[in-house]
Amino acid sequence: MACKRDYYEILGVAKDAGEDEIKKAYRKIALDNHPDRNPGDKEAEQRFKDAAEAYAVLSDKDKRAQYDRFGHAGVQQGAGQGFSTEDIFAAFGDIFGGAGGIFEHFFGGGGGRGRARRGASLRVDLELTLEEVATGVQRKLEITRPAACDACSGTGARPGSQPQRCRLCGGHGQVERSQGFFSIRQSCPECRGQGTVVSDPCGKCRGRGLVDRKAPITVTIPPGIEEGHAERIAGQGEPGEHGGPPGDLVVVIHVQPHSVFTRHGDDLLTQATIAFRQAAMGETVDIPSITGEVVQLKIPAGTQPGELLRVRGHGLPRADGYGRGNLVVRVQVEVPTKLTPEQEQLLIQFDDLEQARRKKSPKKKGIFEKVRDMFQ
Ligand SMILES: [Zn+2]
Ligand SMILES: [Zn+2]
Repeated sequence: MACKRDYYEILGVAKDAGEDEIKKAYRKIALDNHPDRNPGDKEAEQRFKDAAEAYAVLSDKDKRAQYDRFGHAGVQQGAGQGFSTEDIFAAFGDIFGGAGGIFEHFFGGGGGRGRARRGASLRVDLELTLEEVATGVQRKLEITRPAACDACSGTGARPGSQPQRCRLCGGHGQVERSQGFFSIRQSCPECRGQGTVVSDPCGKCRGRGLVDRKAPITVTIPPGIEEGHAERIAGQGEPGEHGGPPGDLVVVIHVQPHSVFTRHGDDLLTQATIAFRQAAMGETVDIPSITGEVVQLKIPAGTQPGELLRVRGHGLPRADGYGRGNLVVRVQVEVPTKLTPEQEQLLIQFDDLEQARRKKSPKKKGIFEKVRDMFQ
């Protein structure tokens, strides 16, 4: 992959530059380096194209965020794969108000061309297991989205025939209508802004110019993703109109409930059942973690039923990439349901010893002693 210059540097603005500042910077570079003003100057043309590419990314809130986070790779799928004249056109449409002014000439006279419009975003819902959230995952998806019809190359006209210039708007795609003092330009109702009409429609796409096509897409889900998070994949939505950029694919994440672990932010809650002796005397026990790794839970002596114990760093990875949450274990103390006579004897003996101990050190009174004291 070729190295690319930083988009902020291309426009000569700071990383935290506001929308207006970016727009102004781009406008100036675009006007100064416009091919009409610099005929034959290849360097100016390159600056002109670079600026359009930088502007297309930095003027789009989502793309800019992607770019800030991941650099050129973050916006690669959209603008990065060879920036076409169409993309530049779209950047212009954005800032100079559609086909018009001095740029109309450069982009082929504007005849037959409507306003560049970004394609619609597509949404898919993706279910992940908690284990996948813990490790991050790559998923291959197959999405169906409209693409240019291969039979008519997207024109919508029967192969061999041509779309005809619209008679109502003369191919401009827009008509002017007077309203009081104003004259309003609106999309031509006859050709719906296309500038052309198809009198002999393509059999495959029925004149639409688009057919639904399946596209394989690989989505990379970073670890620690939240339920309901919308992962945006630039440029993988529906194609744009009139050379506008494609929309984005939005992957909405759902996390399946887990039989053993419950999620609380970055922490995972689970239960462990231990014996009375372990709770009373303390012990280190093995418990499973979400990654399948066995971790050690230290049970302090005197642990009470329902107490929460923490194993640091064995929760979910934090979405920002720094550290992990904790594994929180709710302790259940098992009460035996069947006792042998020998066990019964030992428990009675234990209880006698316990009573004797309490009499010796009456610091901690039981509930019965407390009640008795109250009424005496
Ligand atoms: Zn077709
Ligand atoms: Zn028309």
